Amino acid sequence: MKNVTYIGTRDKNIRYKASEAILKGICPDGGLFIPEEMPVMEKSIEELTEMDYRNLAYEVMSLFFTDFTEDELRYCINNAYDSKFDTDKIAPVVEKDGVYFLELFHGKTIAFKDMALSILPYLMKTSAKKNNIDKEIVILTATSGDTGKAALEGFADVEGTRIIVFYPDGGVSPVQRMQMVTQKGKNVCVAAITGNFDDAQSAVKSIFTDAEMIKELDNKGFMFSSANSINIGRLIPQVAYYWYAYCQLVKDGKIKVGDKINFTVPTGNFGNILAGYFAKKMGLPVNKFVCASNSNKVLYDFFKTGTYDKNREFILTTSPSMDILISSNLERLVCMLTSQEETAKLMKSLAEKGEYSMTAKADDIVGEYADEEETATAIRTMYTNADYVLDTHTAVAYAAYNKYIEESGDTTPTVIVSTASPYKFAKDVCTAIDEKYKDCDPFELMKELEKISGVKIPAPVVDIEKREILHNNLCEREKIKDFVRAQLNK
Ligand SMILES: *Cc1c(COP(=O)(O)O)cnc(C)c1O
Repeated sequence: MKNVTYIGTRDKNIRYKASEAILKGICPDGGLFIPEEMPVMEKSIEELTEMDYRNLAYEVMSLFFTDFTEDELRYCINNAYDSKFDTDKIAPVVEKDGVYFLELFHGKTIAFKDMALSILPYLMKTSAKKNNIDKEIVILTATSGDTGKAALEGFADVEGTRIIVFYPDGGVSPVQRMQMVTQKGKNVCVAAITGNFDDAQSAVKSIFTDAEMIKELDNKGFMFSSANSINIGRLIPQVAYYWYAYCQLVKDGKIKVGDKINFTVPTGNFGNILAGYFAKKMGLPVNKFVCASNSNKVLYDFFKTGTYDKNREFILTTSPSMDILISSNLERLVCMLTSQEETAKLMKSLAEKGEYSMTAKADDIVGEYADEEETATAIRTMYTNADYVLDTHTAVAYAAYNKYIEESGDTTPTVIVSTASPYKFAKDVCTAIDEKYKDCDPFELMKELEKISGVKIPAPVVDIEKREILHNNLCEREKIKDFVRAQLNK
């Protein structure tokens, strides 16, 4: 096994081991970490197909986290992917109406963020130990709804850590909000922040690169890290389920070893789909990735034209976890397609003008999008045809996939990456199925959804509306640094 070094997307002379990159989260110059060289899968698909999720995850992650010992990594994996998930398969593939859905919502917060955030705290603690860090790690997280809860759940009461989560005021679903503001734990803090997700993400990123503030808190015994998908400790665990999905199709006799498949991924910050792209670079037989956006279709335009332009209206949609105009992880793809020098220039242009253009292209990524009506139609159609209820984000992907096959005639078997349980977005899902629900109470509709779907309300959100609200903070985005200081001085 080759050692993998992590280098910066804006400067290849920034070089760290995996454990160091996990602790830092982001490069000092604002760039992101990428593996200097992509590892190649060493085991055959036949061997991988015999493995359960944990063993397969080990085969993938051990190729990237090369400074972890086998014991360390297996400890992290075995503690993350256990009975917290409501199925032994962890990430099952189901076939509905002729397409495959990779269900990534069987963890504690019923969204795919659990796949990475149930392991990140273990990776981080192990990394701290390996690097003799005696500081308290402060996790700062901006969330469009799902990351926040999954990170809170992962880090709550983890010794040696604190976590502060910022979500856009009014920009998350009622269930998402309740999940966060009722979070228990001695080391957790949740605050609504004025503005949208991009504002929250930019505010948090500005702290990570504020040398003065970092120093000030260092003196007080703190260090910052990130639980957003800019952290490779989140990105790499996600590579595993792309392999696992492929192996399940082989095991079920749906494809033969070596056949190519497509993945359609509902995309916001470009983390999930990038993990799939990494899997392909390691050797997974993939034909196309369809990058599905909602009405905030900045990525669709980018893949069509080569111009990334965030200067446009930010639209609040029924798929809030994809309401993003600055997709952080795209920087990694840009760097893989160009160079550090070029990426630094383009990101400067993004920061100063809100746009950049490039000619290099990833031929295996196709942009598609679905507007609000197409998304609702997708939910209704799938329910009518297969009695299967999609959440709003997965529905964006399903609608985008249908547009893609109409345009391309591509008949490659396709896996749609299913990122959330419909219960998280019960109101919009029910209303898509039947207009009569449009004025109903969102929490009442969870009970209705149980009748409609035949799937029980997942344990983590039963009676969520009755739980005590523990976090009432509202932070103005210009004052985020003061807010963080005040929290840490408590
Ligand atoms: C976060 C999220 C997405 C977007 O994933 P990215 O990795 O940010 O592209 C899609 N769907 C749901 C339900 C999410 O929580």
